[in-house]
Amino acid sequence: MISTRDDARTSRSYTDVLLAGLAPDGGLYVPAEYPQFTREELETLKDAPYARIAFELKKKLVDAAIPDEALSDMIDAAYSPTNFAIENNQVVPVQEIDRDIWVQNLSLGPTAAFKDMAMQLLGREMAYELERRKETLAILGATSGDTGSAAEAAFKGLKNITLTMLSPLQGMSDFQRAQMASLSGDNIVNISVRGRFDDCQDLVKKIMNEPEFSKLGAVNSINWGRISSQVPYYFSGYFQVAKKIGDPVDFAVPSGNFGNVLSGYIAKHMGLPIRRLIVATNENNVLHKLFTTGVYENTPAHVTSSPSMDISKASNYERLVFDIFEHDAEETTSYMRTFNETGKVDLADYGLSPDVFKKREFESGTSTHRNRLETIRAVYEAARIVIDPHTADGVYVGKKLKTDAPLICLSTALPVKFEDTIKEALDFIPERPPRFVGLEKQIHADAFSVIDVDADQLKHILNTHA
Ligand SMILES: *Cc1c(COP(=O)(O)O)cnc(C)c1O
Repeated sequence: MISTRDDARTSRSYTDVLLAGLAPDGGLYVPAEYPQFTREELETLKDAPYARIAFELKKKLVDAAIPDEALSDMIDAAYSPTNFAIENNQVVPVQEIDRDIWVQNLSLGPTAAFKDMAMQLLGREMAYELERRKETLAILGATSGDTGSAAEAAFKGLKNITLTMLSPLQGMSDFQRAQMASLSGDNIVNISVRGRFDDCQDLVKKIMNEPEFSKLGAVNSINWGRISSQVPYYFSGYFQVAKKIGDPVDFAVPSGNFGNVLSGYIAKHMGLPIRRLIVATNENNVLHKLFTTGVYENTPAHVTSSPSMDISKASNYERLVFDIFEHDAEETTSYMRTFNETGKVDLADYGLSPDVFKKREFESGTSTHRNRLETIRAVYEAARIVIDPHTADGVYVGKKLKTDAPLICLSTALPVKFEDTIKEALDFIPERPPRFVGLEKQIHADAFSVIDVDADQLKHILNTHA
């Protein structure tokens, strides 16, 4: 693996990258080349269970840094029926909601959001490697909702890892807050910050820049372990739909940090017959503006009814930039520096136009609260399924841009996580899976420590738990 900002192309193993998060030069790790699947190899996987698909893929991406047997055991445990509420023998089942339009459910894991898909494996891979090295790791992260609970559910009880998550005092749904609270204790520390999500993220960055805390690990989607573990569900979705109506297929993906859809891009470049990747944003449409104008601009995010997509910049975009600049680390560094220093960068200044996205078969669109409500209603009326507001962003944009190819819309959370918006759209509250009934009652009073936007208060807590 190499860093997007390293001209020398210093090579690192998958497991080094897994524990490191960001590269020392500030870049993101990517494989030097995407491993390939031939048509014949795809053919042998088309009826395979999810764990087998995940194994064959990860095996190529891990590149011998984890022995096959250990990898296979971890994958089997991560996607077991005790962890995932498997439907129709599928971990990530598809359902047709309209002619040639499918929803693929990625939210049957422990915390009911697609982030479980990668996090369940990430926790196991990290614990395995730390055990092998006889090391321990402290992880610090920020969340506006789903990352926090998915990470905590995956890392809870691991002996060699402590996980501290910062979240804004306001902004998460009651359900999300209750989920995190129910996981506090042992090696999981929850901190509420009197500020917004961006304040939490800035605090994390500030602390990680201090030598004393430079060894802290990361669980946000800049971690390659997460991106690589999201690739298999594109394969599974493709197999399920292509078997019925042929290929290539289009995917519509509700996007925030550009992590999920980047995994789709990697699947495509590993040889999966995906045609277009449709990037759906909500009112925080940094990515849609980028894809249509070529200008990438950091715009303060505001809270919407699809809050996990409320971002002011899309961290994983740098991995695509590296490809657009044909693996020129110097150009990538200059482009990202301009963005980080001025809050804005234009592809035109690098002699490129938005055609670079079209050429790679990306499309984009944006939706509003009203579009989401109407889409939730329309899907319910047509197919009797309740989709969540993030999924609605994807379905709305996907339908608008649909052509003759079959369309798979990724469903990124269960609607029970966003009861208020569902009530507004459908006038009823979606039924909770049994494991979430009475969740709010499990909160201990001291589940969250509350701090100001103040690095010293955070350091104090980190040192107490060290
Ligand atoms: C995190 C999240 C997203 C955005 O995914 P990215 O990888 O950041 O693009 C979309 N929907 C839900 C429900 C999420 O939790």
